[in-house]
Amino acid sequence: MDAYDPGTLPALLAGEPPYRLRQVRSWLARGIDDPAGMTDLPQELRERLGARLAPAPRVLRISTADGGLTRKVLLECGGGEAVESVLMLYPRTSGRAARATVCISTQAGCALGCPFCATGQAGFRRQLTVGEILRQVTVMQRLLAAGEAAVPGAVDHVTNVVFMGMGEPLANLDATVAAVRWLVDQAGLGLSARSITVSTVGLVPGIRRLTGLGLPITLAVSLHAPDDRLRDDLVPVNRQHPLAELLEACRGYRAATGRRLTFEYVLIDGVNAAMGQARALAALVGDMGCHVNLIPMNPTPAVPWTAPPVPAQRAFAGVLERAGVPTTIRRNRGGDIDAACGQLYASYAVASGKVLPAAVGAAERVSAVAADADRR
Ligand code: SAH
Ligand code: SF4
Repeated sequence: MDAYDPGTLPALLAGEPPYRLRQVRSWLARGIDDPAGMTDLPQELRERLGARLAPAPRVLRISTADGGLTRKVLLECGGGEAVESVLMLYPRTSGRAARATVCISTQAGCALGCPFCATGQAGFRRQLTVGEILRQVTVMQRLLAAGEAAVPGAVDHVTNVVFMGMGEPLANLDATVAAVRWLVDQAGLGLSARSITVSTVGLVPGIRRLTGLGLPITLAVSLHAPDDRLRDDLVPVNRQHPLAELLEACRGYRAATGRRLTFEYVLIDGVNAAMGQARALAALVGDMGCHVNLIPMNPTPAVPWTAPPVPAQRAFAGVLERAGVPTTIRRNRGGDIDAACGQLYASYAVASGKVLPAAVGAAERVSAVAADADRR
């Protein structure tokens, strides 16, 4: 059984005094999820829990980059899978409190096949359980509490969680919702909903379900193209949920939660980064109360695409800013340990010569659309 599934602990601890539940939850929130380490429980109870609960995913590797500000942890999950998560420390500055942000994965692989994405190129392997999703956070909580990730001016606990690692959170909806609930629950991690960001490729039914939760979590939507023609190729799920439907669901989310939306836009040279495309994007989202986060394309093994030069990135952002759309350009973290958030990838998939179905023919198809758009 999964300790983080909402019903598990109350069922296993039925008949025990109520404070036992609080004790076990408090251990989990501190990153101790092997009952053998829950030292204030009676031995008999530790053994009983140990026999019933799924073993905690094992830490296979911890790597460090950016002078200690970025850490990547590789966790071994059941069935021979491994998932990566990234801790990014932002020390205190004069204008902002210190933060410790964890970027987590919700699936091993992804079925949605966006051709620029290394996770999508490798295809779907399996859903992660709630415990496997949350363990990525608590393992970092434990590193921070133990002072193992200490850098000057940094915090000693996780302050923010972003669902931007491997997989599509809203394609593993029940587990994602349960994980979000645990993160905000006082008996879980007790984070504010505002410090949680769920990034989605735009699965409309999932956005509606999040809208119904009534939690003001930040919704980040991956747009990547200002029109359906190009988006059909860059984000194939656009064929099921085209832009008009997606933006309508986004407006509903904004109205229900009052939260400013984030739109993510991967900048790919010669594909979606022309000035006309910036103007079209500004026209599309200008009235939505949103912020645009431009992500320079991080090269992946299966397509020849790269980010535009920095001046072109700035010019693209300038068009949006002048149209009144607050815009930032994402700085990649952890590039030197292959851990840029959002591009987590089990490199063995490529190394072992797996076919990457989403990438086959994608570059040619998209180039044809882009060349056509240039001519018009
Ligand atoms: N499935 C979700 C969340 C995971 S990806 C989603 O698609 O939103 C998190 C972000 O990283 C998304 O905006 C995704 O489009 C972006 N991303 C994926 N591959 C990338 C690459 N090679 N370069 C830059 N950003 C990439
Ligand atoms: Fe999946 Fe997101 Fe990658 Fe698309 S960008 S393939 S939805 S992980």
